[in-house]
Amino acid sequence: MHEASLMKDLMRKIEGVAREQNASRVLGISVRLGALSHMSASHFREHFAVASRGSVAEGARLRIEVLSDMNDPHALEILLENVEIAE
Ligand SMILES: [Zn+2]
Repeated sequence: MHEASLMKDLMRKIEGVAREQNASRVLGISVRLGALSHMSASHFREHFAVASRGSVAEGARLRIEVLSDMNDPHALEILLENVEIAE
């Protein structure tokens, strides 16, 4: 449930960036996985593949950093660091 809402939120952010920039495709994204988000990099890849299917971000290259600081105020979140687009 938590994971589903994280992925939904992330896709909404990515699609928002793509729309703002009039992007036809998202080529890559960089994310940071909070220590308490319960997402490993490989688990994130699986979720992203499903969540992005049929969207502008399908097939995007993923750069994933897994954070270990449980006291970070964003430890529960997936942080979208960068979106690389094609015009
Ligand atoms: Zn999962």
